Amino acid sequence: MSDTADARRHVAECGRRMLADGLVLGTAGNVSVRVGELVAVSPSGMAYDRIEPQDVAVVDLAGTLVDGPHAPSSETPMHLDVYASTGANAVVHHHGLHSAAVSTVLDELPSLHYYVTALGGPVRVARYATYGTPELARSVHVALEGRTAALMQNHGAVAYGDTLEAAYDRARLLEWLCALHVTANGIGSPRVLTGDELAAVARRRTEVPA
Ligand code: 13P
Ligand code: ZN
Repeated sequence: MSDTADARRHVAECGRRMLADGLVLGTAGNVSVRVGELVAVSPSGMAYDRIEPQDVAVVDLAGTLVDGPHAPSSETPMHLDVYASTGANAVVHHHGLHSAAVSTVLDELPSLHYYVTALGGPVRVARYATYGTPELARSVHVALEGRTAALMQNHGAVAYGDTLEAAYDRARLLEWLCALHVTANGIGSPRVLTGDELAAVARRRTEVPA
């Protein structure tokens, strides 16, 4: 991602993709891409099918608006915390139905599928806090320790990556893992992979990419 113009275009495109993939309803969720000391972030409360690249806000790492006609996403503090505490270059937050459903019930998503290793291990649910607050950013920070994705209690999901593609793929994978959980529990009591089984997968991933 070479400059903020590319980043703004990718943020706008990703919003439309979240809408098309059914990960968000209305103006829910948000997307950001880091470019050096700046972050391109989706505008707050704007429908994704209306967001053009020039609508995307550009903020500095302290959250001050540097460019753009609209206020940045209310979850900018959470996005900035992820950039401050990881090597991420992109963050995706969504309200996928299965992610939101699981976030209301569990503290950790049981590892039903080995693909959870792509998120760093068993996915935690960040403790509830009001949307857009530093408190929510802190609880997501705790849940992301050693992980590249987390659920947000009674809210949704968040994922990050080196690229927007990677962050988006993880956000979608988490939604799929939550759908698997809901589906499996509907037909019985699913077997959960053990720590040893997950460790073996993590080792194998370094030898043979899944
Ligand atoms: P924004 O429209 O301000 O990005 O908020 C949407 C959201 O998902 C809050 O958590
Ligand atoms: Zn949200």
